Amino acid sequence: MKKTKILIPAPRSRFYKVICRTCGAENIVFSHSTFPARCKVCGTQLVQPTGGKARILKDKAEIVAELG
Ligand SMILES: [Zn+2]
Repeated sequence: MKKTKILIPAPRSRFYKVICRTCGAENIVFSHSTFPARCKVCGTQLVQPTGGKARILKDKAEIVAELG
């Protein structure tokens, strides 16, 4: 069997535009954030780093758009 061609891996990282549920401010967070991103207005933590893909705290932040 012929080996399947391996495609050049595209980065799976994304930027998300999220709205802070606490104060309603828009924040841009990175999907693979390695640090706990916080709301720029009220300081609520929006993203939990995991070592790989960061977890967006759905009860704190609502994703409204996916960028790039
Ligand atoms: Zn906030």
